[in-house]
Amino acid sequence: MKDQLEKIKQEALRQIEASDALEKLNDIRVAYLGKKGELTSVLKSMKDVAPEDRPKVGQMVNDARTMIEGKLEEAMSILQKKAREEQLKKEVIDVTLPAKRNKVGHTHPNTIALKEVERIFVGMGYEVIEGPEVEYDSYNFEKLNIPKNHPARDEQDTFYISDNIVLRSQTSPVQVRTMEKGKLPIRMLAPGRVFRSDEVDATHSPSFHQIEGLVIDKNITFADLKGTLAEFARELFGLETKVKFRPHHFPFTEPSAEMDVTCFKCGGKGCRFCKGSGWIEILGCGMVHPNVLTMSGIDPDEYSGFAFGVGLERIALLKYEIDDMRLLYENDIRFLKQF
Ligand SMILES: [Zn+2]
Repeated sequence: MKDQLEKIKQEALRQIEASDALEKLNDIRVAYLGKKGELTSVLKSMKDVAPEDRPKVGQMVNDARTMIEGKLEEAMSILQKKAREEQLKKEVIDVTLPAKRNKVGHTHPNTIALKEVERIFVGMGYEVIEGPEVEYDSYNFEKLNIPKNHPARDEQDTFYISDNIVLRSQTSPVQVRTMEKGKLPIRMLAPGRVFRSDEVDATHSPSFHQIEGLVIDKNITFADLKGTLAEFARELFGLETKVKFRPHHFPFTEPSAEMDVTCFKCGGKGCRFCKGSGWIEILGCGMVHPNVLTMSGIDPDEYSGFAFGVGLERIALLKYEIDDMRLLYENDIRFLKQF
């Protein structure tokens, strides 16, 4: 009996070791440990064993059973691990395969131009400040020295929400709001959307963008204005760029001027781009009118300042040599892709 058990055990272990598949291990389990298995049949022949030897033989059968079960478990877990590893190898991601390309948009030419202007002025210590697009008439006109019935209101005719509330026609109200806070000195840039009741054509739109600047401090002179704007022009259009100032009139500045820059296409010799003049008109500027300072609670005998305003679209059109402003608003992908 003992020899028979030992033989069964050895044979089972040999078969387990030779198994290379989980199904085979299952077959072995059935063949040795199942209801009709070899070990079970040994137990069935127990009636032939002498009663005093039965506990000993029973113990031996149980030991053999435990041993075979243990080996089966061990072999199974090894095979399972191997199968998992092979599956992982098969499902590995090849990072060298070409990727699917996502179509990503990019910044609008207006925004590219705005970031460029902001970068230049922030580099000179300016702060970028924004304000409401729907504005009180008093901030948009009166506090900027444009009382009711002033002829300048015709040039800046805008959309009225009510008698006293308008869509702002310029970003200057942001300057007034900043001056009223009374924190001096001021060095600020006010970019944003503005509105005029204009018909749409190649150079006009009822909605466009302005970038205005304001500096208020003690002893600010026209020389500071010229130096600042000449530096701005050089940074934006190239180091060779020269500027000239032509006298002009704005209600909120005195004296006022318009600034031209030398044509960056021909360097000032005259070409089709600058219509032969060698100069390109770029912005309006001037020393802040004493009335405007007084209305915002700043003493014009102690403080002075300068202001300037430039159309964002004008900068974008010039910089990218676009000849029709409407292209900037139509959002035609074929156009926008070029920037
Ligand atoms: Zn030119």
